[in-house]
Amino acid sequence: MAQQNLLLLPGDGIGTEIMAEVEKLIAHLNAKGLADVAFDTGLVGGSAYDAHGVAISEEDMQKALSADAVIFGAVGGPKWDNVPYELRPEAGLLRLRKDLGLFANLRPAICYPALADGSSLKREIVEGLDILIVRELTGGVYFGEPKEIHDLGNGQKRAIDTQVYETYEIERIARVAFDMARTRDNRVSSSEKRNVMKSGVLWHEVVSALHESEYADVQLDHILADNCAMQLVRNPKQFDVIVTDNLFGDILSDAAAMLTGSLGMLPSASLGAPDAGTGKRKALYEPVHGSAPDIAGQGMANPIAMIASFAMALRYSFEMVELADKVEAAIAAVLDEGYRTGDIMQDGCKKVSTAEMGDAIIAKL
Ligand code: NAD
Repeated sequence: MAQQNLLLLPGDGIGTEIMAEVEKLIAHLNAKGLADVAFDTGLVGGSAYDAHGVAISEEDMQKALSADAVIFGAVGGPKWDNVPYELRPEAGLLRLRKDLGLFANLRPAICYPALADGSSLKREIVEGLDILIVRELTGGVYFGEPKEIHDLGNGQKRAIDTQVYETYEIERIARVAFDMARTRDNRVSSSEKRNVMKSGVLWHEVVSALHESEYADVQLDHILADNCAMQLVRNPKQFDVIVTDNLFGDILSDAAAMLTGSLGMLPSASLGAPDAGTGKRKALYEPVHGSAPDIAGQGMANPIAMIASFAMALRYSFEMVELADKVEAAIAAVLDEGYRTGDIMQDGCKKVSTAEMGDAIIAKL
């Protein structure tokens, strides 16, 4: 069994509490001979600022670049609200995404049957939901130039953001989506606004061409982003993989996330291009939620998004698909048995702490 080398970056607030559960899980997998995971730890966000005056040190960046995968907790908190903009906690995460070249953001939205009543939609609409949103993360309107505000001199101003995509950016994210679909239900929905945006016209053209030349076995649909938003709340189970740009992906993935009930349940992965020699992708796995300063330090945080993020690392970085399935099944089983942290508490269930939830998942494994 090949040894996997991880860098754990717990970050701030509940980040350290939920990462402790991942450390327990790694110790368990190693002890049982189910995996061979070695890890180093580093500082990111406010904790890195306190120690080094930056949101991530050069030494920890180097560790991230040489690790097989980075497991990231969460950053931020009121303590660092007034640090200079370029040193703010989030700058550490942005630096990691940029330097690791993480262009593909994977956001699964899975609705565990035990939690279907926690969704804002009816049980029958969301129960058993399992969709994956693949969002382009490093291009589009968030990064396009020019990006500026002009004073027009007549009491008016003009703000400009630039939505820009090149063929290679669309092709590489579509490739990730098609590859993911092949490991799932083999269906991709590509979402853009080609009716009103030139970038949408190119997106549609490039995704269609790649489909025809290399992925004809995968079922492909095109859906306008506004209709996609509507369909996500009308009938989300019609989707398997949705691939979309940075802006639409930001919005659609948050809408899909809420179908599942709680922020504390949502993992994510961000992947880079495959290395030319080894074929391995740089990767960072993190829960979708933030550092939850309101509950930090009280042992109340839900560790499931963090543990499920680690399961994504097993699946996508280490190709340990069976083990990933087992971890996810253990999470589902523990929920079925009524274990709940405060954020997902329901009548008649057993309220547990962060550590008790982690222990229950490991015991179930
Ligand atoms: P948040 O996600 O931290 O919290 C929102 C709400 O959800 C809070 O009530 C919190 O208690 C709850 N919550 C979140 N995760 C939970 C979990 N695992 N278990 C139980 N409850 C959970 O968002 P926020 O309050 O807007 O931001 C707090 C800080 O986190 C800010 O400094 C923000 O900048 C930062 N933030 C960081 C990231 C990141 O590290 N990727 C993402 C979002 C926000």
